[in-house]
Amino acid sequence: MKELCEGKIKTAIFDMDGTIYELDGDNGGFKNSSLQKKVKENTAKLFSKKENISLKKTNKLIDELNEKGTFLSVYAEKYGLTRKDFFDIVWNIDPESIVTNYHESVEVITELANRNIELILLTQAPQVWQNNVFSFLNLQNMFGEVYTGETFMHKPEIFPKISASRRPNTVLAIGDQLETDILPASEQGFFTFHVQTPKDLLKLLKDD
Ligand SMILES: [Mg+2]
Repeated sequence: MKELCEGKIKTAIFDMDGTIYELDGDNGGFKNSSLQKKVKENTAKLFSKKENISLKKTNKLIDELNEKGTFLSVYAEKYGLTRKDFFDIVWNIDPESIVTNYHESVEVITELANRNIELILLTQAPQVWQNNVFSFLNLQNMFGEVYTGETFMHKPEIFPKISASRRPNTVLAIGDQLETDILPASEQGFFTFHVQTPKDLLKLLKDD
């Protein structure tokens, strides 16, 4: 990317899922992935213990409540758990053998850090999972700011905050989702880079 090679970019905002790694679900995503399966398993374990009912019954109950989109609120209210408490328990999963296709992103992120580009992570994912992934990929100390799912309702609300203390034409936003990663960044006047797969990140380092 020309602007990056010319040194004009001072800040790079990364999405995580589908940008830094892929999962083994549909189209490299969360749906039907081992991660989704594991989250569901952990949720059922926790819930079955609290409710003192069988795992089978618990799974049925979770499916019913998830269909209505109310599982988390019903559960959280009943046991006085915050969203973060809940995520900390059910998303505390080892990324090894779950995340794939991350070698190129680690290479590119390391190179950007070496060029003293400020790195920001903006992900919908829970903090505990983000921490586990970053320690697995050895990326812990490279990102100056990290926004995870607990800290905002909708991703686009973060871009104006990032814009407030930086010159927009020095910021680059990188992600796989047009709606949430690319369009709201363009609205702030940031440069954008839309990836289909993490391998595309290698093109960032090319001068064209
Ligand atoms: Mg993504």
